[in-house]
Amino acid sequence: MLALFDLDNTLIDRHGGLELWARNFVRSRHLPREAASVVCDQLWERAYPTDFVSLKAALGLHESPDDLWHEYVTGVARSVRCFPGVLEGLEALRHAGWALGVATNGAGDIQRAKLAATGLASLFDGVCVSGDVGVRKPGRGHFEAAIALCGGDLRHRTGHWMVGDNPETDIAGASTAGLRTMWVSNGRRWTYGPREPHTVVRDATEAIDVLQGLTR
Ligand SMILES: [Mg+2]
Repeated sequence: MLALFDLDNTLIDRHGGLELWARNFVRSRHLPREAASVVCDQLWERAYPTDFVSLKAALGLHESPDDLWHEYVTGVARSVRCFPGVLEGLEALRHAGWALGVATNGAGDIQRAKLAATGLASLFDGVCVSGDVGVRKPGRGHFEAAIALCGGDLRHRTGHWMVGDNPETDIAGASTAGLRTMWVSNGRRWTYGPREPHTVVRDATEAIDVLQGLTR
């Protein structure tokens, strides 16, 4: 029994953490409050060091993009929180015998900093970050690397689960790679095409409950 989880907006409230950090960041630079929207718009879907080249120019900042990136990594890791019940639920899944992995797109330093700061890191057998392994979801190789990092067997991939909120990278990607898929809807309806998830859940704690139910 092996389950892979997406990180951002599946296990942790990345958007909430980003908004909090952006507000504090613009206040620390004495920028107008609206500057927080510029930061959030730029970094809403994903954030990479190169984003801070354009943000530096847009906001008239003096630090190097590299220094701004490091400030972001430290600050956002401190600002993000797990959704309620996630830590306890994952711990219970481990006790029930599940092998657990993270399959996430992003730069290695920020994704690992968030996993460490939220207390998630120690709950996983394997952590697969696209920036580290060189292949992003929805690429098949990303899921295969994640399964291997958890000590899973690729020949049994149809028994492995992928849980995530992104219809394309998480659900279509994992489905193409041969995994079972669970979509965290966060209140949305599935309108994303024919590669429907095997299971739709409201949030990560419901996903964990469904997985627990498979072991009873
Ligand atoms: Mg996500």
